[in-house]
Amino acid sequence: MAIVGVGGLGAPAAAVLAASGASLALFDYDRVELSNLPRQPLFGTHDLGRPKVEVAAERIRATFPSTRVEARSCRIDETSARAVLEGMDVIVDATDGLPAKALLNQVALDLGTPLVHAGVLGLDGQLFTILPRRSACLRCLFHELPAEDDLPTCQQAGVLGPVVGAVGIAAAREALDIALGRPPRLADRLAILDGSRLRWREIGLGRDPACHACGDPA
Ligand SMILES: [Zn+2]
Repeated sequence: MAIVGVGGLGAPAAAVLAASGASLALFDYDRVELSNLPRQPLFGTHDLGRPKVEVAAERIRATFPSTRVEARSCRIDETSARAVLEGMDVIVDATDGLPAKALLNQVALDLGTPLVHAGVLGLDGQLFTILPRRSACLRCLFHELPAEDDLPTCQQAGVLGPVVGAVGIAAAREALDIALGRPPRLADRLAILDGSRLRWREIGLGRDPACHACGDPA
């Protein structure tokens, strides 16, 4: 399975998936920075400046030698995304930023690959699973994506390590179910973690027939 983004969401997800024996392909273009360390438990001060995927893969191989893990230090963009993600049984979206999430949504629809969407801002996390053209996609929820300038970034809003980690690990659980052929719990259900009260709640979703991304052609 593919984990796109090996930061606060993706590193804990990768760690627990590796422990369960899943084959992993880790995608991230970033290097380890000091500001990452409070919420990204696979990395330490001696890793500063190294590509995150390399460090993460190294740690996973050292702890779980029989787990297959591939480190891909590449930027996933409009031109590369389909080619590098083709053939994956499930994709975990552990990126930050709406443009990356919208791109992964579109790529998952194009490839017909299930996508577990995970995101955190401030003390709130959200998680749901997209089964292409069978359950609601990101664009069924947001017809028009807000302009990036209208949204606070993780740096502006802040994120709390344990909240991000909890959402990342819940995303891993969804991905594992899909990889094992079990029905995901969060297709057409949006799980929201209120990190200030440590409370999960769920909202039912449904596909929008008029969705620009997954809707039926007129
Ligand atoms: Zn849709």
